[in-house]
Amino acid sequence: MSLLQVDYRLQKLNTLLKIIEYHEPNIEAALKKDLGKSDFESYATETGFVLEELKFIIKHLKSWAKPKKVPTPLAFFPGKSFIEPMPFGKVLVMAPWNYPFQLSFSPLIGALAAGNNVVVKPSEFTPAINEVIKKIISSCFTPTEVSVVEGGVEETKRLLENKFDYIFFTGSTEVGRSVMMKAAETLTPVTLELGGKSPLFIHDGMDLHVAAKRCVWGKFTNAGQTCVAPDYVLVPFKHQQQFIELLKFYIKSFYSSEVEKSPDYGRIINDRHFTRLVSLIDKDKIAFGGFSKRATRYISPTVLKDIDWNHEIMKEEIFGPILPVLPYVDENEALKFIQNRPKPLAFYLFSEDKAFTEKTLTDLCFGGACVNDTLVHLGNPHLPFGGVGASGMGSYHGKKSFETFSHYKSIYKRSSWMDIPVRYPPYKNKMKWLKLFLG
Ligand code: NAD
Repeated sequence: MSLLQVDYRLQKLNTLLKIIEYHEPNIEAALKKDLGKSDFESYATETGFVLEELKFIIKHLKSWAKPKKVPTPLAFFPGKSFIEPMPFGKVLVMAPWNYPFQLSFSPLIGALAAGNNVVVKPSEFTPAINEVIKKIISSCFTPTEVSVVEGGVEETKRLLENKFDYIFFTGSTEVGRSVMMKAAETLTPVTLELGGKSPLFIHDGMDLHVAAKRCVWGKFTNAGQTCVAPDYVLVPFKHQQQFIELLKFYIKSFYSSEVEKSPDYGRIINDRHFTRLVSLIDKDKIAFGGFSKRATRYISPTVLKDIDWNHEIMKEEIFGPILPVLPYVDENEALKFIQNRPKPLAFYLFSEDKAFTEKTLTDLCFGGACVNDTLVHLGNPHLPFGGVGASGMGSYHGKKSFETFSHYKSIYKRSSWMDIPVRYPPYKNKMKWLKLFLG
């Protein structure tokens, strides 16, 4: 049996499901060690997410994998036309460190469902979860089916010297660009799941309580180290102070007044990111927080106020627990600023105004969006997830994962018993018949 057979894929995916369930406590312990994640957050954003994705794919795989009959034009009768998915072959999945379990397994499951062999390259910054990932994979797959290659930049560059049939990369825009350049040498197709600055826009008239609560949740989950976290907030100038008060209220009510002691608040992945983030905190703009402790890589939830578009913090993806608030006076001008920046991975709009919502969703280009919420669009397996422009290319989750990792062959089948002579030379006097057939 091989992954080319759908029954075998299903058998493997079912085994994987059971093994992941078995390792649930180990996954949670490892994510606590690597990123200080709470068990709840680990389950909600990593293990539970992957298990749901597995169940969804297992449920639908047979029907997705079937060849689909499509209409055949009269001119090609008698005959039948099909589209048939097949695996690309050998897929490389490169994962970042922020959701190391989810972002290794979610693409892996899609690639396996489509029948590919897979090499998984997790981040070098998550040693504890990498051990669990290796254990799960080796107890479920042969090394030919799935293998794990660990290492930093140099090892990954060497790995990329090998020929793959598809590369699925999740990580920064900068590394994504170099992966794509490498892939271009061998014309290897790629999916790039990248990052960027995802805006959260609060429209005048919106309930600020709801906006602040969902903003705090989306921003400070995993200590802000989420690719789709709201990077910055745009709020009507006259509501800035009230909104900031509400942000403070919800930060305290989620993580207590002593956030450092909260079991639900994460830590920064490594010293390099800690130093980078601390340097982004402009002391003159702090409205809340701004505390940090290098020894434990703790950075408190931090809100910066009165930020404008030219501020240093607006130049790069923050990817940490610092939230700049940009007050605006003219909503159209504020939206234009978003429009003039690289296309974001996510866009969050808080508005009660239907016409404004529709217009904004139509005018702006982004990977995905939530209206009156943050992050949750990711959890719907019916919504493909991916970026556009600088935030990535291609998408996955649910059926889209199967499609991403499949090559769709177009096939026309006919028998040998009938032949219409019109198409064969000599063509003299045949044009009217050709037009009749094609017309
Ligand atoms: P990264 O680009 O530094 O690393 C991603 C992967 O590439 C890792 O496996 C790493 O070992 C490898 N790598 C790093 N440098 C390399 C190089 N020079 N050559 C070849 N391989 C290299 O990203 P990261 O710091 O792990 O993750 C953070 C970034 O990922 C953020 O920008 C974030 O927005 C983005 N991200 C995107 C998504 C998404 O789904 N779109 C999800 C999570 C994170």
